Amino acid sequence: MSVAIHPIAAPWGRFALYSFLIDGPELALVDTGVTASAANLPAELERLGRRIQDVRWILLTHGHIDHVGGAYALWEATGRRAQVVISETDAHFLASRRAHVEEALALRGSYVDTEALEATKSAEVLEAVSGEMQPSRTVRDGDLLDLGGVRVRVVATPGHTPGAVTYVVQDAAGASEHVFVGDAAQCYGAASGFPGYEDPDAYRASLVRLVALEPQHLYLGHPYRRMDGTPYHVALAAGDARAALDASLEREAQVRAGASRAARRTSRSPYSPFEAHAAELGYTGDPTLEPSPFFTTLNGYTATEKEPS
Ligand SMILES: [Zn+2]
Repeated sequence: MSVAIHPIAAPWGRFALYSFLIDGPELALVDTGVTASAANLPAELERLGRRIQDVRWILLTHGHIDHVGGAYALWEATGRRAQVVISETDAHFLASRRAHVEEALALRGSYVDTEALEATKSAEVLEAVSGEMQPSRTVRDGDLLDLGGVRVRVVATPGHTPGAVTYVVQDAAGASEHVFVGDAAQCYGAASGFPGYEDPDAYRASLVRLVALEPQHLYLGHPYRRMDGTPYHVALAAGDARAALDASLEREAQVRAGASRAARRTSRSPYSPFEAHAAELGYTGDPTLEPSPFFTTLNGYTATEKEPS
């Protein structure tokens, strides 16, 4: 059974957030943006001739605020009829605003002004997360969802977050027709110009998995950029899909090599303790702009390293 896919954009600060409508016998949304995006979404659906009340599935690729923040409001807007789906590993982000604050502190608290980070994040979750809820259903790798005859396979793609999953709409022959990766493939990064992932080895292994799926269509959570800084479209046909996955692998390899050549050292630089890493990688962006992929990612490569004394 064939479906149409519609990307739905929602701006949030310097980010462009995307949800996707899977327009089939049972309407499904992939990711929700934040509270403001959810408020905007019913009108976007109407322009497509669809109604929020008819949405039956809200499929969340991972727990980050810009993907789950609108989930509660949209679930309410469906009359609580939609099934809200997330991996069991990331489900706490749906259930607790505080989980987003704790995550930021755990990953970046030792690199930035901790009190300021806690204050910023605490204010952000109040505005950007529309409500706390338990998922209707948690999923894990290999699960199959039946969207009124449309088969969706859940593929674990951890690394960006521990519980990140990819939703794969399969065609009758089992091929990967529409592949929704969330933030599991980041090319050369989004607005901040750096790819963000907690676990580099898992991120790389997930990218290899995605290549093996041979997506006929690939959908990115944000307009991630090429090496030259130009953004990919969020909806990519097979050739561009492969290019975006290859670019993600290429950038991960570069960051890995740069991280291995540099050593952590506390300094007065805003990149501290990764001043040498920024120099190796030619990174000149603001490392403190949340969600600070520079710090999150380099923490993943170097967390067990000791500074020279
Ligand atoms: Zn994310």
